[in-house]
Amino acid sequence: MSQKRDYYEVLGVAKDASPDDVRKAYRQAALKNHPDRNPGDAEAEARFKEATEAYQVLSDEQKRARYDRFGHAGVEGMPDAGGDIFTHFQDIFSELFGGGFGGGGQPRRRGPARGHDLRVQQRLTLREAMVGAKREVVLRTPATCEECSGTGAKPGTKRKQCGTCDGQGQVSTSRGFVMFTQTCPECRGEGSVVKTPCESCNGQGAVEKTRKVVVNFPAGIDAGQRLRVPGQGMPGSQGGPSGDLYVDIDLAPDERFERDGADLVTRAPVSFSTAVLGGSLEIELPDETRATVEIPAGSQPGEIVTVRGKGLPRVDGRGRGSLQAVVQVEVPKHISARAKELLRDLDAELGKQAEKATTSKTAS
Ligand SMILES: [Zn+2]
Ligand SMILES: [Zn+2]
Repeated sequence: MSQKRDYYEVLGVAKDASPDDVRKAYRQAALKNHPDRNPGDAEAEARFKEATEAYQVLSDEQKRARYDRFGHAGVEGMPDAGGDIFTHFQDIFSELFGGGFGGGGQPRRRGPARGHDLRVQQRLTLREAMVGAKREVVLRTPATCEECSGTGAKPGTKRKQCGTCDGQGQVSTSRGFVMFTQTCPECRGEGSVVKTPCESCNGQGAVEKTRKVVVNFPAGIDAGQRLRVPGQGMPGSQGGPSGDLYVDIDLAPDERFERDGADLVTRAPVSFSTAVLGGSLEIELPDETRATVEIPAGSQPGEIVTVRGKGLPRVDGRGRGSLQAVVQVEVPKHISARAKELLRDLDAELGKQAEKATTSKTAS
């Protein structure tokens, strides 16, 4: 575990920074490092989490006071309003930027906001990766309930002020000598509750919708790569643009081939005589085309025969990789008496040749 950085240092504010300064500093850091803006950038994500953690403490008067007195140890294990950091950051986020999800009809949204990005994973076969694929991806996402326009209240009724927190969204509890302020568990910080729930969404303000998006996987795509489908993320709020859909690629293992970038690696099983005399071998590729592998005379087990242009296409269009066939000499387990005799003769012959080679070497 690495040493935790000082929260003030993380946000780049002075020890006596006002709550407003803290908020502004976090907003800046969050905008810059938000995972949706830096897909795949683990460092940005780490910075984002670090800033969020710092903000959670420094934006809370009591946590900040404890942090000032006792450092990180003072705030460790203190209850968070939302539990894990991501639920929490969503709250902070919708508060800071408007839009987002889970706002449940809160009258807080200011101006158009871009929708969130979505991420899904898709597993392709080697064949699909080689020839490309077009696939319908099913997305399950929350969408604003049209019945109640996201308020959660049955049409014709209104939300009422939360009685637990008197509309404040926060409640204070004391444990021993310490007072904790927590997000109100009754209204989850919204300050109001649904009196008569909307029947379509059970008062949630959002319903799950399935949506199909056709995604084109280009030939040559590889595991670990990520496709971006613009505009297919969550819809924006108040006319803001939709987010993007990111598709993470995964490849199913293949029985016959391994992939090495644009190259295909496979076994080329040959008989002892083919290895000695040379020959050719037909291999069916994952895209069902065939490649002829020319085995040179005197091939050793494990030697690689390269067939250019028979690998996968490169995504950037710069041609294709190669087929790499690894020579495997097959040794028969059961052979006839005649074959045994022939082999002994062959062995004797090869032995004589080897002897000749050694003597001629020592002679010269
Ligand atoms: Zn509803
Ligand atoms: Zn409440």
